[in-house]
Amino acid sequence: TTVVFLEADFKIKIFHGWFYLLLSLLADIAGAVAIAGILIAIIRRWVIKPPTIERRKYDWLLYLALLFILLSGFILEGLRIAVTEDPWANFSPVGLGLSKILSPLIPYAKPLHAFFWWSHLSAVAVLIATMPWSRLLHIFTLPVGVFFRNLSFKGSLPRLDIEKLMEKEDFSYGLIETSNLTWKQRMDIDICIGCGRCEEVCPSALSGGFLSPRKFISELKSVVTQNGSSKFFDSNGGKSIDKNLIWYCRTCHACSTVCPTMIEHVRFMVELRQGRTMMEGDLPVDASRALESMRTRGNPWGPQMERMEWLKPNEVRVLSPGEKTDILYWLGCCTSYDQTKQKIAVNMVKILKKSGVDFAILGDEELCCGDPARILGDESIFQETVKKQLDKIQKVSFNKIITHCPHCYHVLKNEYKTFGANLNVLHHSEYLYELLSTNKITLKNSYPHRVTYHDPCYLGRYQGIYELPRKILRAIPEINLIEMNHHHSNSLCCGGGGGHYWMDLKNGVRPGEIRVEEASSINADMIAVGCVYCLQMLDDALKSKNLEEKIHVEDIASIVAESIM
Ligand code: SF4
Ligand code: SF4
Repeated sequence: TTVVFLEADFKIKIFHGWFYLLLSLLADIAGAVAIAGILIAIIRRWVIKPPTIERRKYDWLLYLALLFILLSGFILEGLRIAVTEDPWANFSPVGLGLSKILSPLIPYAKPLHAFFWWSHLSAVAVLIATMPWSRLLHIFTLPVGVFFRNLSFKGSLPRLDIEKLMEKEDFSYGLIETSNLTWKQRMDIDICIGCGRCEEVCPSALSGGFLSPRKFISELKSVVTQNGSSKFFDSNGGKSIDKNLIWYCRTCHACSTVCPTMIEHVRFMVELRQGRTMMEGDLPVDASRALESMRTRGNPWGPQMERMEWLKPNEVRVLSPGEKTDILYWLGCCTSYDQTKQKIAVNMVKILKKSGVDFAILGDEELCCGDPARILGDESIFQETVKKQLDKIQKVSFNKIITHCPHCYHVLKNEYKTFGANLNVLHHSEYLYELLSTNKITLKNSYPHRVTYHDPCYLGRYQGIYELPRKILRAIPEINLIEMNHHHSNSLCCGGGGGHYWMDLKNGVRPGEIRVEEASSINADMIAVGCVYCLQMLDDALKSKNLEEKIHVEDIASIVAESIM
């Protein structure tokens, strides 16, 4: 309309020739698509009304204004074509169609055109003027937020030397009040468009509804937009968030993976936990027991001396300071102290021996990698544990660390870098695939099962490893690998991340129960996993759902071991 106005009244030739015709065609198509999109949005918000979508009080006004602007634009185009008998009207198909409907109104074209022209222009002007206070602001803020997104590894947290910070009198850590937020975090809170995609995939929301990442961001916004700096919790009559909320997060990153504005929900959760744990000592009782064990014994499970009790003497070489190996096999605390997980290590040891590679373990010198403290918000214990462990690791030599725990994998590979270590860490699925492709192991025995692979969050969404475990499983004779409804980056969390291995927070069904029902619905008789936490959570869920006779759960190492022996 503006271009035609400039051409007709000011004789300024801006668009002409094939360029103008192409633009007319594209503008018509874009306008029609936009109208369809707005109608779908209206139907979704006010007819279907999914509970995950945020509806603000005056949203309807915005949708009506957008619809009016687009429709009035097409009416203006239709009137122009009807009156001028535009020879190029075929390049404005929607306007051409409307011109046929509007042709009986040609005698009134002038006043009608004036009415729609001024109302169209006024609506556009009002929309632009009110943009800073409306949802449409995200047209500008969203690209800026995406441009300044965190380019570091997934789940990364700001790392400050806690020992030095603790020397200061006004020591403070984590998010306690709104003044602790960075400008980017404020922006993240502001650019949420309330689309609800995060809520649709959140295991905590799906299993009980207590935590919704969408509502969480919206509640943060209410706290941030109060006058002055406000505390996030217990803000003396002002707006605040429920302090229990943050403990329900599984740190699975399902929310941020689907969030169109790339908001880092997990970073908010963990930094808020840091504030509660380190500054207030306020955390779930089971979680505080795990942290106390880490502080006194170096791991959340038991005495360090009992770490290797389950291994037969001389079963595996234990590295002493100054010694060297090709592969350092990292067992992880869960495997070392929990009998039901030791099967994974026993099978990995069998595979490594069969392949003839040079490998060893750290024995009692292996501490916790630090992950539970990091995720439960005790950065002090985390940093202390990492420094102690690095000191021990640096006394031995190796080429690669192999671990079957994606949580250890994430911390050793990514977090240890922030302490200056550059370790070559592989998940056992990566290494098993390497052994297979170099013919160091051969999968001979058939495995006639309907197997479905459950993607662990810390391996899939955190590291992007989706295909290697599937490739290994597909290489096993007679295996029938089938997919659940949710797989790859869309996979559902087992519910064990975010410290939930140590906290039993009951709220509705358990996320693992939703997952095993999905496996049952596709008639799988085996769930293959690549994570010790997933193994535990899904095994528990099979029992609570009385599915343990129908479906079993195994780590991929155990399945591979059965096929090569
Ligand atoms: S990280 Fe997972 S559990 Fe936490 S809010 Fe996001 S989707 Fe929910
Ligand atoms: S997916 Fe992102 S933009 Fe959409 S509601 Fe959740 S946090 Fe907001």
